[in-house]
Amino acid sequence: MTRWVYGFGGGVNDGGAEMKNLLGGKGANLAEMASIGLPVPPGFTITTEVCTAFYDNDKRYPDDLAAQVGAALAKIEAAVGQTFGDAENPLLVSVRSGARVSMPGMMDTVLNLGLNDGTVVGLAKGARDERFAWDSYRRFIQMYGSVVLGVDHHQFEEIIEFAKLEAGVTEDTGLTAGNWRQVVAAYKDLVAKATGKPFPTDPHEQLWGAIGAVFGSWMNHRAITYRRLHDIPAEWGTAVNVQAMVFGNMGDDCATGVCFTRDPSTGENMFYGEYLVNAQGEDVVAGIRTPQPLSVAAAREGEVALETAMPAAYAELMAVREKLEQHYRDMQDIEFTVQRHKLFMLQTRNGKRTAAASLRMAVEMAHEGLIDRAEAVRRVNPSSLDQLLHPTLDPKAPRTVLAKGLPASPGAASGAVVFSADEAESRALKGESVILVRMETSPEDIHGMHAARGILTTRGGMTSHAAVVARGMGRPCVAGAGGITVDYGAQTLFSAGKTVNAGDIITLDGAAGEVFIGAVPMIEPAMSGDFGTLMQWADACRRMGVRANAETPLDAETAKKFGAEGIGLCRTEHMFFDPQRIGAVRQMIMANSPAERRDALSRLLPFQREDFRRLFTIMAGLPVTIRLLDPPLHEFLPHTAAEMEEVAQALGVDLETVRRRGVELAEANPMLGHRGCRLGISFPEIYEMQARAIFEGAIAVAKDIGTAPHPEIMIPLVAIRKELEITRAQVDGVAKAVFAETGTTISYSVGTMIELPRAAMLADQIAEVADFFSFGTNDLTQTVFGLSRDDAGTFLPRYVDLGILPKDPFVSIDVEGVGEMVRIATVKGRAKKNNLKLGICGEHGGDPASIAFCEQVGLDYVSCSPYRVPVARLAAAQAALGMTGDRTA
Ligand code: PEP
Ligand code: MG
Repeated sequence: MTRWVYGFGGGVNDGGAEMKNLLGGKGANLAEMASIGLPVPPGFTITTEVCTAFYDNDKRYPDDLAAQVGAALAKIEAAVGQTFGDAENPLLVSVRSGARVSMPGMMDTVLNLGLNDGTVVGLAKGARDERFAWDSYRRFIQMYGSVVLGVDHHQFEEIIEFAKLEAGVTEDTGLTAGNWRQVVAAYKDLVAKATGKPFPTDPHEQLWGAIGAVFGSWMNHRAITYRRLHDIPAEWGTAVNVQAMVFGNMGDDCATGVCFTRDPSTGENMFYGEYLVNAQGEDVVAGIRTPQPLSVAAAREGEVALETAMPAAYAELMAVREKLEQHYRDMQDIEFTVQRHKLFMLQTRNGKRTAAASLRMAVEMAHEGLIDRAEAVRRVNPSSLDQLLHPTLDPKAPRTVLAKGLPASPGAASGAVVFSADEAESRALKGESVILVRMETSPEDIHGMHAARGILTTRGGMTSHAAVVARGMGRPCVAGAGGITVDYGAQTLFSAGKTVNAGDIITLDGAAGEVFIGAVPMIEPAMSGDFGTLMQWADACRRMGVRANAETPLDAETAKKFGAEGIGLCRTEHMFFDPQRIGAVRQMIMANSPAERRDALSRLLPFQREDFRRLFTIMAGLPVTIRLLDPPLHEFLPHTAAEMEEVAQALGVDLETVRRRGVELAEANPMLGHRGCRLGISFPEIYEMQARAIFEGAIAVAKDIGTAPHPEIMIPLVAIRKELEITRAQVDGVAKAVFAETGTTISYSVGTMIELPRAAMLADQIAEVADFFSFGTNDLTQTVFGLSRDDAGTFLPRYVDLGILPKDPFVSIDVEGVGEMVRIATVKGRAKKNNLKLGICGEHGGDPASIAFCEQVGLDYVSCSPYRVPVARLAAAQAALGMTGDRTA
């Protein structure tokens, strides 16, 4: 018999933290907390396998599920001494979803399940509080009605507003038991009207309705979007947790709260959280009432810390904090409830954090001895480093404050104001920077939050939806800026006597919680402190080298600052677009004879020599790989009449001749056309000029600084051994000539890109004439799949949506296909030449999952864009520590 249900708490412990795949994160951790003696209300988890079975069997449950749920429910009843559906002493339960990773967008929670006109009386009697019981009942109908039965939640709110108006009160707290009783009646009418059926009164029917809603929500639109954004497979499924209710809303000796064992924004080792007296869990995150801080140290004027209000419960919570951190050895995100001064733990999980916090916590926990250095290196998601490498506001820049709110997620961003998630998405797709402004956000806004540069809300606290999601996504966020009034209808916001319209530019400082009018200048980040420490630890763990793809001095400097150990790809064609040179370049490619071409090249030589001299100087002592001219010539063709005129003059021919030559050179398939080494073979003068510039530049640097650089000259787009033989001979010939002319010899190597399938398959032949290979996985992906890298955007996203491909293969290497080519070339190349140096310089060199693959096949280095160098250093370290690069699991 398959076990579908696992119990926890109340002396039963069927699961544990290691069973996340089966029990989901929430269920596994509830079992774990119960097993280490923390106060967890008893409950049970229906496994993720039930979810999978449900979808595999036409939305039917396994036959024996009902019996297992019944038995587990009986255990809860025995543990708490209450009976489900009993009018005298009713057991009430919560029903929550719980996937392997926390997943906004699904049905989250139904509380107080089990209430009906009979049990509400028993609840009132047991609690000796009629108002509490009827308030709980209306909350239940409201939650169940909206999340399970799909009734619009605004309609429930309207009924409460009406009840307050009638009773002449402004706050919910002003309503009496009698008022709530009327609200319950009105709610039931609403549900009956909206659904065509009476609200279910049988607690068992309620329970199965809620369970069905959790499983149903796994396939709703929002959950699917979230899974797509986070690479979560649909097969994982969700679990359902059913747990005895405890009440934070039974009076002023009750409370509920959420907290983090360390500050999730900065990583500081301080207890960080919020609570509300006399409230139920959802009130804290919903942002309706403003929560209070936990500790006195964090309390501002007018706030009452839990430490003051309930010192015993606070002390107990502090002890739990300590125990959980020691046990999980990581920062925990906790939900708790205090019922009549007694503390209950409702959830713990590794807390989401900003990149800065993740870094600081990893380094500090290693210093504290909680984890070792290798573990600290494992803890930080390489992709999240991007956030730290991005600008912050220039403290000296003038600014006009528009509003203040909570510093919910750090970083700075400027952009045009938009008021809806859909608009954020559509404008971002057009390349605009936007700031999403909402009163509060909900899971429906996820796509817009993702598209926006920053998020601003006018309601909600540090644990509101906007704050949590923005931190997870690395978007700057200012939350709860109460001074701002948003008018969605008019598409404006007002604050500090100013009106801002949709489309106007504002700037957010998520670390300070401030909003400014216009774009405030920003400054580049520093690579010091914890960042530097973690990078050093990472460097000590990694085997592969990390180089950068760079050709300008600025890029080379940036790369070096970020720790690049050389240049892995200098695309020389990028040096040709400078206005001072492009005329000579055009003259070169449109020339009709070698003499004309040489004339143009002699004009380019001094520029190229200077380019290389500067690169070698910046990268003194480090390898620099220079790729000879590669792109299709059509990229350089003159298009405008003025450009053609200029070329005509340089060549001493008429405009018509130039136009004709342009037509001759145009290609149907330029990426598969006259490019790469094919150019060097057609026009040997080009590669000869470039080789001369490299050697003369290197010799000049050797004289200037006393250390000779070691240029690595790379031939692109080789498919056939002979191509490399011919071009290599050209380079060697030039080297010989320059060494003879200057009387100086330097060491250099000549290698090739492996970016065509034929080259990969016959890498042994090519290795005979190459000193190194660098995998050009951009072209290799293009040619292995036979899809154009410039046109794939029109259909690849759909391929990923439909699961035809797990990811965009231009972003993350296709291990099965393109990766197999790399593997074959590596094995064959090394078999022929065991000291063959192997690197990668396609975009994949900066992608953590692809870097993990490079480690597995044994490449010597990866090369990526300058800003990705720290990402690559960390990813290479994690790969060496055996991590796969997949951060979802
Ligand atoms: C490649 O093809 O992977 C490569 C690095 O070269 P480019 O992107 O310049 O074609
Ligand atoms: Mg290429």
